[in-house]
Amino acid sequence: MDLHALLDRIYRELLPSAGSGKVADYIPALAAVDPRRFGLAYAGVDGAYVGAGDCLEPFSIQSISKIFSLSLVLAREGEAIWARVGREPSGTAFNSLVQLEQERGIPRNPFINAGALVVTDRLHALSGAAREALRDFLRTESGNPGVDFDAGVAASEAEHGHRNAALAHFLAAYGNMECPVEQVLEQYFWQCSLRMSCADLARAGLFLARHGLRADGTRLFSASEAKRVNAVMLTCGTYDAAGEFAYRVGLPSKSGVGGGILAVLPNRGCLCVWSPGLDPKGNSVLGVEVLDRFTTATGWSVF
Ligand code: GLN
Repeated sequence: MDLHALLDRIYRELLPSAGSGKVADYIPALAAVDPRRFGLAYAGVDGAYVGAGDCLEPFSIQSISKIFSLSLVLAREGEAIWARVGREPSGTAFNSLVQLEQERGIPRNPFINAGALVVTDRLHALSGAAREALRDFLRTESGNPGVDFDAGVAASEAEHGHRNAALAHFLAAYGNMECPVEQVLEQYFWQCSLRMSCADLARAGLFLARHGLRADGTRLFSASEAKRVNAVMLTCGTYDAAGEFAYRVGLPSKSGVGGGILAVLPNRGCLCVWSPGLDPKGNSVLGVEVLDRFTTATGWSVF
């Protein structure tokens, strides 16, 4: 498989559509991003690397951070987190409040905002500093010591974060929050503000393609746990579009409202795409299209 030629072809085919979709504007700092930015990068478990377009340009990873916070919690204390958060697709928007009340404060899964707040709460309780634990892990796994927060994005989200604040208070009201709500929200906003490129993210996700082995060859968690994170990504990683996404792409993936999507190809590698324009469900329009074309051309889906 000539991955260089394939990524280059997909990039050139889709470049005229760069700018499709709608850039997230509920976090005003994200609305300032040029909608025509477009990059993709593949990192293989064998050390292979191929990139195209703006693959080295850092962007706001937003909800892609939720894979890593979940993995760090599972690595530290195994399955205990599942008493506080479910593993079913939500079928509702990622920031919906209704389901959380109906289900008495147990979020459907760790990748909708309510579930991610529970995970960040636990990581903060376990580590004493959730956002730093996450940043340090991402620096090590990506091999880029320059990975850092974007204070402007974090502040912008905090200022407009009424929905997340409402979710966190709901969780606290149901006894599903260990740390003070304000602390958890702050950690969560900073976590989402991390800036990474497609190249950084593709490398940082490789422990999921390597069945739990980190970049330095040590084990983060068991092969079973890696498989389970991948399973939750497949069923819940692209919100209430996860069914359509599995149909078109067929890879465990996680999207973020910054326009990034990170996909895991177990045993092979990771592919990350960035294009800020989103579809109505909050997934990058071009990102989904790239992944669809990639798995169709290679046959490399999990099915
Ligand atoms: N920080 C964003 C939020 O909490 C993340 C959402 C996303 O990327 N889907 O609303």
